[in-house]
Amino acid sequence: MSIEEFRKNGYAAIDWLCDYFERIESYPVLSKVKPGQIKSSLPSSPPKNAEQFSRIIEDLDKIILPGITHWQAPGFFGYFPANASPPSILAEIFSAGLGVQGMLWLTSPSCTELEILVLDWIVEMMGLPDMFKSSGFGGGVIQDSASSAVLCAVIAARELTKTKAAPQGTQSYLIGYCSEEAHSSVEKAFAIAGLGRENLRKISSDSDGALLYSNLEEQIASDLFNGLKPFFICGTVGSTSTLSCDPIKKIGRLADLNDCWLHVDSAMAGTAAVCPEFRYLNDGIELADSYCFNPHKWMLTNFDCNCFYVKDKKTLISALSVLPEYLRNPRALDQPVVDFRDWQIPLGRRFRALKLWFVIRSYGVDGIREYLRGHVKIANKFASWVEAENHFELTSYTGLNLVCFRVEGDDARNEKLLNTINETGSIFLSHTIIDGRFSLRLCVGQVRVTEQTVLQAWEVIKTCASGIEP
Ligand SMILES: *Cc1c(COP(=O)(O)O)cnc(C)c1O
Repeated sequence: MSIEEFRKNGYAAIDWLCDYFERIESYPVLSKVKPGQIKSSLPSSPPKNAEQFSRIIEDLDKIILPGITHWQAPGFFGYFPANASPPSILAEIFSAGLGVQGMLWLTSPSCTELEILVLDWIVEMMGLPDMFKSSGFGGGVIQDSASSAVLCAVIAARELTKTKAAPQGTQSYLIGYCSEEAHSSVEKAFAIAGLGRENLRKISSDSDGALLYSNLEEQIASDLFNGLKPFFICGTVGSTSTLSCDPIKKIGRLADLNDCWLHVDSAMAGTAAVCPEFRYLNDGIELADSYCFNPHKWMLTNFDCNCFYVKDKKTLISALSVLPEYLRNPRALDQPVVDFRDWQIPLGRRFRALKLWFVIRSYGVDGIREYLRGHVKIANKFASWVEAENHFELTSYTGLNLVCFRVEGDDARNEKLLNTINETGSIFLSHTIIDGRFSLRLCVGQVRVTEQTVLQAWEVIKTCASGIEP
């Protein structure tokens, strides 16, 4: 593709996306294709000869689009939002076009220095503890996902136990803790790090989904009694299922008493701390050794972008750095530099800070606040509609952007309601289990969601429910 063709096709690609956003509500939110349908509609072998860009776009429209679940549609209320705001999409194009690998400072100084800067900006924007700023012992780094962040946290925590030195590499006496509501990525991190899934204790939670502190205390005491070494606790602020919050302050003190690393996972809810009135979400975070949240969920930034902060960058770097000669910085560098490859699992890294920089500058902190407040206000209204409606029950609402509810009747009726709603194609909801009962989840956080679209969704939900026998 020549530069001239690239220019022409580039304009066409942006036009395509603009048209897509304009007609996004005309597609069924949840793709209706059958398993295997997309793959079997395409040639099983790659084309021998070059094809025209326009031919590729034709197939994108005809074959690929029907297999898309429209996460950007205002009727998408499932799981969590996957924000893709226009400024972040444009930044993504610049990142792709510059095509830099930001593994070392030297391999693109702007990639490293802009990342350090925007992560410091975010500490200020969200009222996070100053210890996470780059000027002291701590610092922040962009990871691809909250899953990678918790894996890095687990590995850094292990580093402090000095078991790295164990020649046989087993750490079977190292024990970690999280609530049963914690994200599955914590267990995955234990599996990947070779610490053993069973060495992660899942502490039960109370009826609000918060970790039961006394159970954690007892479990740690019992593990110590048995000669095991508690070393890691993951606290959740805004669980995936209901946005429940663990008592971070209390857990933090316990972690400190027992020399445990405390990681706080606030993947979706964390963003809300941009608004001062939601800063209660940060309570106790000053006791954490690491913290993360996902701008790629609710902060107008397209996937992937996770902000991961540590209190002591030396430990993280010590856990993750390997220095082959070919990556050694020139001895002539007259100042120490940050090489972010030592803060993450892979070597290579994309220029993701551009996305945050574009988003924060395009909306301003006040614009982001307004955006989040709008969503919370809509979710509040939706929760009040559910509460006021006969035959419906609010099963969880923590005051942010996720509302869980069910219709009167058994689980089978609720499951049928969810399927019926999603089959309409106009909206998409997901589900969870709360206190052993099936609940529907409606998460407000899409870039294009409005009170009007949520009101329409509520009408769809009520109509579907009235058509299902109790
Ligand atoms: C979504 C979510 C995750 C996983 O996020 P990824 O970035 O996809 O790894 C982890 N923890 C919580 C609380 C989440 O809501």
